[in-house]
Amino acid sequence: MSKYLIKNVNLGNLDDLSTKRVNIVIENGVFTKISEKIAREDAIGANVIDANGMLGLPGFTDAHTHMAQSFLKGPLDDLPITEWLVKLFTIDDHMSDDDYYYGTLLGCLSSLKFGTTTVNEMGDMARIDIQLKAFEDSGIRTTYGVSTTDIAENEVTPIISVDQALKIADEIYSKAHGANNGLISASVAPAGLPAVSKEMAQALKKFAKEKDIVYHTHLGEGKMETENVAKMYNLRGETEALYNFGILDEKTLLAHSIWLPDFELDMIAETKANPVHCPNTNMKISDGIPPIAKMLERGINVAMGCDGEASSSTRDMIREGRAGAYLQKAVTLDPTVMDAATTMKMMTINGAKALGYKDLGQVKVGNQADLILVRMDDDLSLTDRQHPIGNLLYAGDGHAVDTVFVRGNLMVRNKKLQAFDEREFVATCNDRIERLNEKIKNI
Ligand SMILES: [Zn+2]
Repeated sequence: MSKYLIKNVNLGNLDDLSTKRVNIVIENGVFTKISEKIAREDAIGANVIDANGMLGLPGFTDAHTHMAQSFLKGPLDDLPITEWLVKLFTIDDHMSDDDYYYGTLLGCLSSLKFGTTTVNEMGDMARIDIQLKAFEDSGIRTTYGVSTTDIAENEVTPIISVDQALKIADEIYSKAHGANNGLISASVAPAGLPAVSKEMAQALKKFAKEKDIVYHTHLGEGKMETENVAKMYNLRGETEALYNFGILDEKTLLAHSIWLPDFELDMIAETKANPVHCPNTNMKISDGIPPIAKMLERGINVAMGCDGEASSSTRDMIREGRAGAYLQKAVTLDPTVMDAATTMKMMTINGAKALGYKDLGQVKVGNQADLILVRMDDDLSLTDRQHPIGNLLYAGDGHAVDTVFVRGNLMVRNKKLQAFDEREFVATCNDRIERLNEKIKNI
C-alpha cells in the first residue's frame, strides 16, 4: 500500500468547527501521524500532496442507500409513496443485470466524488453477485445486505419464505463479509415491517446476532403503512413491534424513522438503535418529517443517508445534511437544532458508529484513513476562512470535494476519479438509461 504525506491541510474539528493547519501521514491505510511540523522521515517513500487552501474532514458515511436506483432519477419523480413503490418494483423487473451493475457503480462513484467513503446498502436479492462486483470495482467501503419481504404490501412485492431469506443471508455473509480486503461487510436488510413478518424479522435478527453483523431496515416511513403495522399487531406503533420482537439494539439501523411518538423514541434510546435521517427522500415523496430534535435530546445516535436516487435524486451528503438541518430548524422553530457540528457528526462518525466501526469517522492517529480534502480557495460560495465547515454545510455542496481517500487508497484527486474515465463512464450510463427509459415508458 502507498504512503502519503498530506501537507498544509486545514484539518476540521467537528466538535467546535475550528480548523488547525497540520500535516498528515497515511501508511498502510491508517493515519500514522498528524503534526504541525514535518519530520524528514515523513516524506521518505511518500507521495506528497500539498493541501494548501483545502479543508480536511473525515469521509462521509451514507447510512442508507439503494445504489442501483441511480439509473432511476426521473421516471419516478413526483409520485406519492404507495404509487412510487409499485412503479419502482415494476421497473426493477425491466432492468437487466448490466443495468444493475452500472446503476450501482454510478451510485458508488457519485458518492465517492461527493466525499462519501462508506455506504450502507440495501440491495436486490436477485442481483447479489452483480452488485457486489460493482461495490468492489468502485472501491468504496460498503456494508451490504439485500431487501427481503414475505408479506405482500402490493401486487408486485417480491415474496420469499423465511428459509429462503436465511439462505440469502448466509450466501451474502459467505461472499461479502470481509470481501475486497475487508472493505465490504455483510448485513441483513429485511425491508420493513409493512412487508416483513415477525418470523422473518426475528430469524434474520438471530442470524445477525450470531454473525455479529448489522440489521438494516426501514422504519416508520409511510404514515398509513406505519399505522397498518400497529393495527396488524394490535400495538400503538411500528417501533413498539420491533421493540417487542427483540430487533432493536446498537447494531440496528432504522432508515427514515418518521412516524414515532415519544414513547417509541424512548424505546430507541433505551436499546441504542440508530435511526437514519433521509430528509431529501422524506420531502420529495412526502413521507413526512421525523422527530430528529427529540431523538438528539434523548442522546440517540442519529446517522444520515441519501437513500436511493429514485426518491432523493442525490448522492450528495452535504445536500442531505443541509436539508435535514433546515427541516428540523423550521419544524421546531429552533435554529439551534441540528447545528453545523451536530449535523456534520451525523454525516460522519454517527454513521460509522452505527455500522459498528470503532476506527472510522474521525481523522486521528490509528484510525482507518478515510479522508476528504475540500477545495476552499477557488469557490465563490465558500469564501470566509474563519467559518469553513459551517459554510461547506450551509453554502456548499459535494462538488467542492477535491480529494478522497478510502482506507489510504486515493480514489479522487483534483475532482477526478482516479480509476475511471468519467466521460466514457457517463456516456455508457446515458446510453443504458436511454434504452431503459424506452423499455419502461408505458409503465
Ligand atoms: Zn430505503
